[in-house]
Amino acid sequence: MSENAPKEAAPDPEASAAERKMQFLFSLRSRGVTDARTLTAMEKVDRGPFVRGHFATHAYDDTPLPISCGQTISQPSVVGLMTQALKVQPRDKVLEVGTGSGYQAAILSQLARRVYTVDRHPRLVNEAAEIFRELDLTNITVLTGDGSFGIPDQAPFDRILVTAAAEDPPGPLLAQLKIGGIMVVPVGQSDAVQSLIRVTKTENGFDYDELTPVRFVPLIEGLGRDE
Ligand code: SAM
Repeated sequence: MSENAPKEAAPDPEASAAERKMQFLFSLRSRGVTDARTLTAMEKVDRGPFVRGHFATHAYDDTPLPISCGQTISQPSVVGLMTQALKVQPRDKVLEVGTGSGYQAAILSQLARRVYTVDRHPRLVNEAAEIFRELDLTNITVLTGDGSFGIPDQAPFDRILVTAAAEDPPGPLLAQLKIGGIMVVPVGQSDAVQSLIRVTKTENGFDYDELTPVRFVPLIEGLGRDE
C-alpha cells in the first residue's frame, strides 16, 4: 500500500454527491478498510474541505494530493488503514504527529475523546485550525512544533499516530504512551518504501507488528528547515 498507489477508476464528473460518497466508501473497503467505526467516521467527515484549489475536484479519489508547504494530504485508504490499526476507543486521548491538511485528525476526532495534532509548519496549523472551527470539531487541539518530541505537557496518550516516516519509532513518543497504549508509525528511509508498524506498550516493554508497506514524506526533526 502506498500514498502514491494508482487510482482504481477515473472519477465520474457527472456523479451526484451521494454516488461519489458511495464510490469513495467502496474504494476504502476494496483496499482493506473494514472496521465499522472507521468507515462511519470516514463517511461522516467530508474530505472536500481539506483539499484546496484546483485539486478540490479530486477530493474523493483514493489518492494523495498536494497541500500547502509542499506537503500532502494522505491517500484516504491509507488514512483508513492507519485509523483502524490504531483501535481508538471513545475515552481515548490521541496524539497525531503531522497535521498536514487536518483530515486525519478530523477522522480521529469522531472516534476519540480528545485529539492533539502537531505540525512543524505554522501555515498548515493555521489552515487546519480554521477548518476545525468551520466544522465545529471542538475536541481537536492543533499546535505548531516538532512532533517527534511529542507533547510532554499532555502526556501520557492512549494512542499516537505518526503520519510522516521515521527511521525508528521516536523515543519520546514511546515514552509518552500509556501502558496498554498503541502507536502506529511508518518506519523506514524516506526515499524508499516504508513499513507501517504498530507498537503496543506493555508492562515489560513493547510489542511490534509490521502491518503493510507505505510511502510517506519524512518526519523532520527541528523547525525552520525546508524538506
Ligand atoms: N495527516 C495529514 C493529513 O491528514 O493531511 C498528512 C500528513 S503529511 C503526509 C506529513 C506531515 O508531517 C506534513 O504536514 C509535515 O509538515 C509533517 N511533519 C514532518 N515532520 C514533522 C515533525 N517533526 N513534527 C511535526 N510535523 C511534522
